[in-house]
Amino acid sequence: MSKKSTRVALACQALRQAIIEQALPPGTKLPEDELGLRFGMSRTLVREALAQLQSEGLVDAPPRRTATTAKPTLDQAREIFETRRMLEREVVRLVIARWRPQFGADLEGHVRAEETARQAGEARVSIRLAGEFHTRLGEMAGNSLLRRYLSEVVSRCSLILALYGRPHSADCAVNEHREIVAALRAGNAETAIRIMDHHIGSVEARALLDQGRDAGFDLGTVLSRYASGLDEPGSAKVARIPKAKAKGKR
Ligand SMILES: [Zn+2]
Repeated sequence: MSKKSTRVALACQALRQAIIEQALPPGTKLPEDELGLRFGMSRTLVREALAQLQSEGLVDAPPRRTATTAKPTLDQAREIFETRRMLEREVVRLVIARWRPQFGADLEGHVRAEETARQAGEARVSIRLAGEFHTRLGEMAGNSLLRRYLSEVVSRCSLILALYGRPHSADCAVNEHREIVAALRAGNAETAIRIMDHHIGSVEARALLDQGRDAGFDLGTVLSRYASGLDEPGSAKVARIPKAKAKGKR
């Protein structure tokens, strides 16, 4: 991978994480110049990163207009959950078919980390770990295409939760994840699929609880937090920009 494409991939990763953790609420403007400054890259590369995130459904980047984090409609949200349910069923089936003893220990460790984050009241970590439980299952299914589709759909569900759900709530209940792990361990595909179906139904109900809300936050603060982990050795330092400029028009 060239240095430029690495840079684009890192910026995508940082923005993706900020969106999934609900630090950048749906509909947030993402001006190219500010992203370029924060991530230490040219506007051309910023556009590449935004196009990638648009293809994942996380960003709307219409030509000649400022990109924003995506704001799916309720109908789109329901479609995304419908698709997620189909994918998760297949994931459960494949994970059971390809089960390895290590999977049980991995998943139980993950659920314990979710529980710890929840007890510590770390909302953003909880949200991220809840999504990662599902993408981990996607990895264990051993089908790279399915894994990619699932992880895209899970990210989009986090965005939907940020748009329509309660502020800073993780979409998944930890005890439901525990039940899924137990069912996978038991190796009964039918039961495990039923539990997963029920879980995704609950996630959808929680995500679509409230209809739209606005969060007060500062774009510059969020971007600088997510850009700070971005510097590779030898690359240009990510620039700090004064607040007044960070809040520019566009
Ligand atoms: Zn879950």
